[in-house]
Amino acid sequence: MAIWNLGSINADMVYALPHMPAPGETLAADSLDQGLGGKGANMSVAAARAGSHCCHIGAVGPEGKWAVDRLTEYGVDTRHVVTGDVPTGHAIIAVDKAGENSIILFPGANRTISEDQLGQALSAANSGDILVMQNETNMQAEAAKMGRDLGLRVAYAAAPFDAEAVQAVLPYLDLLFLNEVEAQQLTEATGKAPEALGIADVIVTLGAKGARHFAADGTVSDVPALPVKPVDTTGAGDTFTGYVLSGLDRGLPMAQAMAQAARAGALMVTRNGAADAIPDLKEVQDARF
Ligand code: ADP
Repeated sequence: MAIWNLGSINADMVYALPHMPAPGETLAADSLDQGLGGKGANMSVAAARAGSHCCHIGAVGPEGKWAVDRLTEYGVDTRHVVTGDVPTGHAIIAVDKAGENSIILFPGANRTISEDQLGQALSAANSGDILVMQNETNMQAEAAKMGRDLGLRVAYAAAPFDAEAVQAVLPYLDLLFLNEVEAQQLTEATGKAPEALGIADVIVTLGAKGARHFAADGTVSDVPALPVKPVDTTGAGDTFTGYVLSGLDRGLPMAQAMAQAARAGALMVTRNGAADAIPDLKEVQDARF
């Protein structure tokens, strides 16, 4: 089986700050770390490092070869990542001393995916494969519909939250991933709790409080978080999602896939960086908390 990820690829510029800048404040950063990020790239790297064949569908700009090379290095299949004229997406990430982050996003090439590119990639997918999307590209609704028509298991992380974009893909979803804030935003947008939207599996991540799974039959299961001291929460949710999807792709039941994902997410918050910091399956299995 395979995972198909229509997702963003970003250059992350991570600035360590003494505190978050207030409006009008000029603040010197303590350090700058540059790396590979983007919710899409993070999820692809997580799924690949967890042991799945993950095929990334995305775009970079003329200067983006390093990002594609790095995805390949981490085991991601990049044959459907195209290079165009629009600059590679990037994120300016501020991290304060408590490990909280705040992000400015430039979408760039991530919003230039064509329907042709998408159709060509998914023509190689097999029924039962997983398709996943987030909100940092264009074409999510088209992809979700194509995925449903092809018999793929369609998953979506509603991040960054955008009510219109989310509502356009809802009818085609088998799995929906939300963090606590996104769950609240979706409830406000639809007037219904996320688990009441008719989606087979809804997973709400709750940071240091773990994650909750709402199954189609009404069962609600909690997966606790592991006790760690957070350094940088960037990419925790993406790593969690990539690991859950890989677990399902590798045939694990949801509870086990989520337990593995919680370990991966916990490790992730103890490390600086995004895609470059995502642990592989052995590290996740061997970690002691
Ligand atoms: P997002 O990054 O999308 O906001 P969360 O913060 O909910 O997502 O994190 C996703 C998952 O990562 C959580 O469900 C949890 O398993 C793990 N995680 C996140 N923060 C922590 C933490 N402080 N301690 C332990 N695990 C964490």
